[in-house]
Formats: sequence, C-alpha cells, structure tokens
Amino acid sequence: MKRIVSGITATGNLTLGNYIGSIKNLIKAQNEYEIFMFVADLHGITSPINPSTLRKNVSEQLKTYISCGIDVNKTKLFKQSEIIGHTELFYYLTTISNEGQLKRMTQYKDKSLKSSNKTNHIPLGLLMYPILMAGDILLYNAEGVIVGADQKQHLELTRDLAERLNSRFKLNFNIPEPIIPKIGSKIMALKTPTKKMSKSDDDINETVFLLDDLKIARKKIMSSLTDSENKVYFDEKNKPGVSNLLTIFSAIKEITIEESVEKLKDMDYKKFKESVADVVIELLSNIQNKFNSLTDDDVKSALDKNKLYIQSEADKYINKVTKGFGIR
Ligand code: AMP
Repeated sequence: MKRIVSGITATGNLTLGNYIGSIKNLIKAQNEYEIFMFVADLHGITSPINPSTLRKNVSEQLKTYISCGIDVNKTKLFKQSEIIGHTELFYYLTTISNEGQLKRMTQYKDKSLKSSNKTNHIPLGLLMYPILMAGDILLYNAEGVIVGADQKQHLELTRDLAERLNSRFKLNFNIPEPIIPKIGSKIMALKTPTKKMSKSDDDINETVFLLDDLKIARKKIMSSLTDSENKVYFDEKNKPGVSNLLTIFSAIKEITIEESVEKLKDMDYKKFKESVADVVIELLSNIQNKFNSLTDDDVKSALDKNKLYIQSEADKYINKVTKGFGIR
C-alpha cells in the first residue's frame, strides 16, 4: 500500500479551504493508501503565537479531522511534536539546503513582508519552514503528499532534498509526488477572491471556518464579493468571486464546474449565493454535530492508537539518515 503524508499547521481553526484542498481528499484516499496525518504544532510556532491559543488549536484541529471523517482505524493520526525525529531530520536537511532556494519561495516572500511590516523583523523559522516540511514527509519515506496548490513549491524543495540525500549519501528515499485536487486546489478569500482563503487572515470575514456558527457562515457567503454582471458562469480571471463560489459548490457536491454552472446559471446572485451557502451549511452542520459529540478522551485514544508504530517508522528513517551522514 502506498504511503501518503499530510499535515495542517496549528495556527487557527480549520477552514473550508483546508477541507476542500486537503482533508476531503485524505478521507477519500483512506482505503487506497496508508495515510500519516498530523497536526503541525511545530509549524504553528513559526510566527509568534500565544501558547494557550496553540494548545486550543491543536486539540480542536484533531477533533475536527475526526469530525470531518478521518477514520482513526485506517489513518495514522498524530501530533507532530509527539514523534521524535521531525526536528532532528529538519537539522540534517538544513545542512544540505541553500538559502537562495528558500528565499525564492512565494510563501516566504509574502509572509516575510507581512512580518517585517508588522514587527520590523523576520523570524528565521519563516525561511526554514519548507525544510521542516520536507522533514515531515521524508521521516516516513512517503510516496505522495496530499496538498493544496499553495504547497506545490514547497514540495518541489522536498523532492530536491530527497534527491540530494540519495545522491550524496547513497540512500534510497522515495521522491514524493504531489497529489493536488482537480477542483478546489486553491479556495480563495470571500471578500478578496484574488488571494487564498487562509486561517490566519486578519479579517475573519474572508474565511469560512469549519466550526463557524452556521448563521455567521451563511452571512459570510451572502456578503462575499462577486461583480455587477449578475450572471453565473465560470471565469477565474474576470469573475474571481463567482468562480470561487462555483468551485466551492462543485467540490462539496463532487460534481464538475460545468455541472454546477448548468444547475445555477439561471439564478440571480442572491439565489446563487443562497444555493452555495446551503451546501456549505449542510457540510458544516454535519461536521459540527460530530465535533460536539467527541470528548478529549476520544482524541487521546485516537493519538495513542498508532503512536508506537508511527515512532518506529520515524526511527527507521532517521537511522538511515544519521548513518548516511556518518554520524552513527
Ligand atoms: P495550512 O493551513 O497552510 O497548514 O495548509 C494545510 C493544507 O490545506 C495544505 O495542504 C494546503 O495546501 C491546504 N490549503 C490551505 N488553504 C487552502 C485553500 N485556501 N485552498 C485549498 N487548499 C488549501
């Protein structure tokens, strides 16, 4: 069975973008692949975060994964920091990484600019983030990684580092393939549909959170930015808002964009937004019902289930790397 790794940073509550770009596809892949899925708390401290907020994010994210349909009897669910090896492999990988390649990452350019505007400095963690991500993937020798389009560049770096490990140290790591959804690989922000929907956006009205109050989520969609044409069709360049709502509708209903347009094309924007809101609310309501029935003990037992196996896999690949480098 092929192995896939996927993680979500613990910087906030999970969003509709996380669900469509990542979680939904992991759920579908559970029967076909061996999946290692983690909440990325170490990535969560890349930019300053209040410790109690981080703890709350980690616990809510784990519950939300399960509420979305991650089956802990199939998927190996864990907390990144609980498995020894992520930070160790990160260090080894820094020694074969180049500063120039890291500085060219689009996400680094965006985030470092934001950070220096806000605080006048750029945490080194922002630059190193993709190396930790490479470590997360190579630690389990994954063959595939389920990600949204925003992570493609980071995965390229992972592939480069795997190749470098193999050629310099005569190792045989898999070169992991990105698995990116055909529809919904980049869900856009609601009021500014030219930027990615993100859980750390300063304006909460840009983002639908999976745990949003249902009335608030509906209101966010109803007040999303469209255009003045009042005609429903797909054109990402000229109608980014309408196209984003069509993408959300299609991804949740698991139909093509063309099928969605066919269903919705005769509606005015008010009716159109109501139809999109209806499918989103139905999804959120199912997730939230499950979320409310889960206890902290359920999460703890989910984490305990495969911990030994996950750690033994991590140990195996760390040992290969340390031996390869000549450290052991
Ligand atoms: P992050 O929240 O940045 O840790 O991302 C976790 C996963 O969700 C990654 O696979 C991302 O590519 C995916 N993701 C995050 N935001 C979006 C979005 N707006 N649209 C599609 N996928 C996303």
